[in-house]
Amino acid sequence: MKALVKDKAEPGLWLRDVPEPAVGPGEVLVRVLRTGICGTDLHIRSWDGWAQQAVRTPLVVGHEFVGDVVEVGRDVTEIAVGDRVSGEGHLVCGKCRNCLAGRRHLCRATVGLGVGRDGAFAEYLALPASNVWVHRVEVDVDVAAIFDPFGNAVHTALSFPLVGEDVLITGAGPIGLMAAAVAKHAGARHVVVTDVNEQRLALARKVGATVALNVAHTSIEDAQRELGLREGFDVGLEMSGNPEALRGMIANLTHGGKIAMLGLPSQEFAVDWARIVMSMITIKGIYGREMFETWYAMSVLLEGGLDLAPVITGRYSHLDFEAAFDDAARGHGGKVILDWAA
Ligand code: NAD
Ligand code: ZN
Repeated sequence: MKALVKDKAEPGLWLRDVPEPAVGPGEVLVRVLRTGICGTDLHIRSWDGWAQQAVRTPLVVGHEFVGDVVEVGRDVTEIAVGDRVSGEGHLVCGKCRNCLAGRRHLCRATVGLGVGRDGAFAEYLALPASNVWVHRVEVDVDVAAIFDPFGNAVHTALSFPLVGEDVLITGAGPIGLMAAAVAKHAGARHVVVTDVNEQRLALARKVGATVALNVAHTSIEDAQRELGLREGFDVGLEMSGNPEALRGMIANLTHGGKIAMLGLPSQEFAVDWARIVMSMITIKGIYGREMFETWYAMSVLLEGGLDLAPVITGRYSHLDFEAAFDDAARGHGGKVILDWAA
């Protein structure tokens, strides 16, 4: 089968012929239809410092996918050939205290699909049935391909009660955009999205942001004044990994405000801890998705009319993967999809 492989410990990805994966007991084989390109895949392609310490070559990359089940292994009972599925890209150990308690998203020994083992940018993917999400309700195939980052957005956005609250989202990348759509859909009052990229801010307006703010020119304080917020934002969703964004968020939160932090800073940095203490701000780190509570919420949100169509801005054949990766790496748009059937 064809797969996108990190073959050599140097920048690049290569479309190669590799053996079809074998299906072990408790696993399913998926014929991949579409995949989404994530920042992780861009890191692996460019072979940056993180990728060099996280990845052993050769590796089939990718973890955002949708496909159809073509074979089920022994002992798989709840999934059938023909099921349309996406998958949880975090493979957990099943043995640690958190796993045994059903808190699989807190596993101490998580392995990433397409990072720590062969991934989804391929014609076929074998995956434990316990990592498979069956789309019981019909979902647009491109949206189904991005359930993984959509799950990051939902996990973050629904970490704290949102109904009637004023929400600040820093970073209008694909995940920030989806979080904005979710926050609005879930009943937030004002959803203010910040970024430094005008094209992404335009997308934020499309998904329903009350205000999309370029923090290179306008301050969050000004936006607050414009909206008549006298006491600050109730909830912050940090989606940029940028130190200035988190500092600005902390400074603009109400007393007792809550921050759900998904953005991954590349290094340590200082924040105003006295403000966090004296304003009694809660900060919660978010990693991945809750298995499978977040997935349930995602499906129901879509069933309830949540529209993610504006977030998908690039569609390419897997044969044009270089152009697709360049598109994603420019960082001007939303999600970029690779079609494995085309
Ligand atoms: P992205 O890099 O495409 O988007 C980040 C956005 O933040 C960009 O549009 C950038 O212009 C913007 N930005 C930069 N400086 C800013 C500032 N000062 N204020 C506001 N915005 C600013 O990323 P993405 O794919 O949407 O992912 C969002 C973040 O979440 C990234 O940091 C990523 O590494 C992280 N991530 C975390 C998890 C997790 O499980 N915790 C999973 C996936 C991604
Ligand atoms: Zn575990």
